[in-house]
Amino acid sequence: TSKIRIGIAGYGNLGRGVQAAIAKNSDMELVGVYSRRDPDTLQLAQPAPRYSVDVLGDHVDDIDVLILCGGSKSDLPEQGPRMAALFNTVDSFDTHARIPEYYETVNAPAKAAGKTALISAGWDPGMFSINRVYGEALLPDGETYTFWGRGLSQGHSDAVRRVPGVAGGVQYTIPSPEAIEQVRAGLRPTLSTREKHQRECYVVLEDGADENTVRELIVNMEHYFDQYDTTVNFIDAQTLAAEHSNMPHGGFVIRSGNTSDEQKQVIEYSLALGSNPEFTSSVLVAYARAAFRMNQRGITGAQTVYDVAPGLLSPKSPAQLRAELL
Ligand code: NDP
Repeated sequence: TSKIRIGIAGYGNLGRGVQAAIAKNSDMELVGVYSRRDPDTLQLAQPAPRYSVDVLGDHVDDIDVLILCGGSKSDLPEQGPRMAALFNTVDSFDTHARIPEYYETVNAPAKAAGKTALISAGWDPGMFSINRVYGEALLPDGETYTFWGRGLSQGHSDAVRRVPGVAGGVQYTIPSPEAIEQVRAGLRPTLSTREKHQRECYVVLEDGADENTVRELIVNMEHYFDQYDTTVNFIDAQTLAAEHSNMPHGGFVIRSGNTSDEQKQVIEYSLALGSNPEFTSSVLVAYARAAFRMNQRGITGAQTVYDVAPGLLSPKSPAQLRAELL
């Protein structure tokens, strides 16, 4: 059988991760990397055909699924609906509050073109969402808890770097061990924002900047840090480069519930990710397989991870899955 032909739209962290993930899936092949930048200047991790996004319209017959690797803030709202009119697509749109709106803007062009657009895959939204649904459905009398970390938060790191006097820095989100303990014990605690997560910053100061002034600006920053206990550690530029350039992340989705007055049940899903973008990309590639199959079955329009049957993610046939995994 022929391989599923994948295109990568946008070559940042996710684009690189998708290229690595395709190499781990023998039923897929990479047709090309498409960028808004001059393709000749793109430094690919592995050799592959490089194109401008402007030629995508000429490649509709060469690509089974286009994986959209742009940012959620400004790239996907524009690229998602436009590409869904031409290709089956998968993306990782993660602005949670805007997912219903994004779904609508992608659904109309995808439906009209007979394409399948799988939106908001990844880990959160994505694998965590699926586990929240399982938890709620299986234990209707219960509480769902999501803890993130220990992980590098891109948004909070950006916020730290914008503080006057800061030359560089990163922020880690750390789940509170005491809170997780209570949740795992099935106590169904009510936890404040401060009780669930702590924040830890590693900061390089500009020459002449004052530690205390910078620390106060960070820990009191509205919305980002003021509702948390935050520690600020000052380091030098070499240490920042050597020890803080990976993008680890992960976390826990825990549902604890009661099936009777006497019995409590706890479900836990956890991720410990060495690289957030590489893992997210692996999820996108598995969902590309599902999107391709759904399109072949006439399931078109925008779809979310909730609409995808687990077996569709696997390269194995339904018969193989029944024999091996049931
Ligand atoms: P990047 O900033 O690395 O890349 C986004 C886009 O920016 C690329 O597609 C690329 O487009 C462009 N770009 C990349 N590098 C450069 C550069 N050096 N100069 C100019 N442009 C560049 O973002 P990520 O890949 O890290 O993340 C993309 C999105 O993934 C995030 O916005 C986030 O919303 C989402 N995400 C979702 C997760 C989930 O669980 N659902 C988890 C993690 C991330 P082009 O090649 O066209 O220029």
